[in-house]
Amino acid sequence: MGIQTDSIELLTSLYNFKQEGKRLEIEEIFKATNWELNRFKNAYDYLKDKGLISEKTRTAGRTASGLQRVIGLHLTHLGIDVIENDKEFENTFRNSHVQLIIQNGMANVVNQNKGQAVNNIAAPKVENVSHKNTGDINYGNIIHNQNITDNSTSYDIDKRDVYLLEKLSINLIGRFGEKKLTLLAIISLIADVIAIFAVLKSFSPTLYSYLPDVPQSFGIPLIFAVVLLTTLAVFLISIVNYKFESRCSSCKEFYSLEEIGEPKAREVKARGGIRRNWTRTYKCKKCGNTETKNFNDFIENTENNE
Ligand SMILES: [Zn+2]
Repeated sequence: MGIQTDSIELLTSLYNFKQEGKRLEIEEIFKATNWELNRFKNAYDYLKDKGLISEKTRTAGRTASGLQRVIGLHLTHLGIDVIENDKEFENTFRNSHVQLIIQNGMANVVNQNKGQAVNNIAAPKVENVSHKNTGDINYGNIIHNQNITDNSTSYDIDKRDVYLLEKLSINLIGRFGEKKLTLLAIISLIADVIAIFAVLKSFSPTLYSYLPDVPQSFGIPLIFAVVLLTTLAVFLISIVNYKFESRCSSCKEFYSLEEIGEPKAREVKARGGIRRNWTRTYKCKKCGNTETKNFNDFIENTENNE
């Protein structure tokens, strides 16, 4: 975890302290983060250098944890703006892979790890990282709590039915290997692109004059070929993808994750659209490890009502 990401979490923590009416005491804040001293100092100094927090003065002596004593620590107006204003946040923390969500007046950090899209949907994996950053209140639960009423709705969704997908994935990968299947998927996609051009060419012979002519009677059969090739490619990609999706992050066994509990979906009205977030819990059949996967996407408003 980088200093910038840490500093966002720390800022969120300070903001939540303030919202709860607690005094900003450096020692209390440090304890709430549960971090190593150096990690805290780096994040703290970063916020200070950016002018997001400020101190009245420092006195001699150190706190129990070895931090310098600070008097009059407070969030600056800039610090508050960064939390409450999306544009300000983006300007200050350019390129960070984190997002802020304000819920019931409390800020939550959402870490987006785009490298790990799962579920065949181009959705970033989301992790709530602020569970332990704020003392006695577990903000992580606020996100999943049912009685959020301000601007979000929660509802139950069905478990994913992966019975057939799993059988096919184990069977076909066992028989042909994932390399051959991936190669076949790539070949199908290439053939698909060629078929799409051939369809266009058969219906309008003047198009792309440098391409060879395709008789018009080929048009309809070629459309079927496009549908078939697309289906084949999607199918192959899904079964190979499933192998990795079902892998336990703890014991690294493939096909070991089984969905448990009740999946939940949540929609939050956000600037310019609706943010959808759904949570599924998995248990490893081999080692018993449970893991929660969060998926989210963003539906943009078609009409701009801001
Ligand atoms: Zn496992």
